[in-house]
Amino acid sequence: MFTRIDLHTHSRHSDGALTPAELCGLAVARQVQLLALTDHDTLAGCEEAERCCRGTGVRFLAGVELSTQWRETEVHVIGLRPEPLNAALGQHLSAVQELRRERIRQIGARLDRKGLDGAGMAEAALHQADAPTRTHLARLLVAGGLVKDPQQAFDQWLGRGRPGFVPARWPSIELAVGLINAAGGLAVLAHPHRYRLSNGALRELCGAFKTAGGAGIEVSVAGMSPDEATRAATLARRFDLAGSVGSDFHEPGLPWRPVGRFAKLPDAVVSITERLGLDAAIS
Ligand code: MN
Ligand code: MN
Ligand code: MN
Repeated sequence: MFTRIDLHTHSRHSDGALTPAELCGLAVARQVQLLALTDHDTLAGCEEAERCCRGTGVRFLAGVELSTQWRETEVHVIGLRPEPLNAALGQHLSAVQELRRERIRQIGARLDRKGLDGAGMAEAALHQADAPTRTHLARLLVAGGLVKDPQQAFDQWLGRGRPGFVPARWPSIELAVGLINAAGGLAVLAHPHRYRLSNGALRELCGAFKTAGGAGIEVSVAGMSPDEATRAATLARRFDLAGSVGSDFHEPGLPWRPVGRFAKLPDAVVSITERLGLDAAIS
């Protein structure tokens, strides 16, 4: 029976601050029983994480967080336990990583035009991760003393409508879910509360996700209010999606989002661990 579960975390292979080994160390210290590493658009950290969790009491699942497009909204889909060597998924991840690198270069060029060393920051970001993100640039803007924190970097430079903004066009949610399923994984709709969708639109998203072959939905993630958690649980039941929980951990400096922020799975929601065949419920 798993009671301490975290199925949504990041490492340095995307925009997390820790190596997979350091992340595992933290999971061990916090007595996590089941951990998934779900970096943005890369599985590259999973082998190391798997190795480091062996023999520690932390059971490890490979995972990935895919950015997708649903209508005008960027929607994140977690793939749990896909075959790491699946060719179609691997090709998709390589293509998205290249799109991400190109986007970082374009943002760099825009920042250059505003008198910042955008090209230099882009180059540095490209060296920091397989899947470089705007968060990498935000941290570099902080490090360069240009803004006080990453939030200000987005508000002033990187966010929509700001001088460094470059729109991203992600693959469709159907394509992403299809790839995860074809690789033998389970697709989980990540942090439904963060999309700023009306209740009606969120229901339509869940319907589309389920129709595409989605298996689960995050019903407890760090940052979700009790109200939002209740809404997510209602969606889980309505669309017959299993419940998943996670911290969306990125760095130890954010104390409200620690690895293994164990929350209880609401009653009447089937646990994703059951769908994974792990013979246990989150309780
Ligand atoms: Mn992230
Ligand atoms: Mn996300
Ligand atoms: Mn995440």
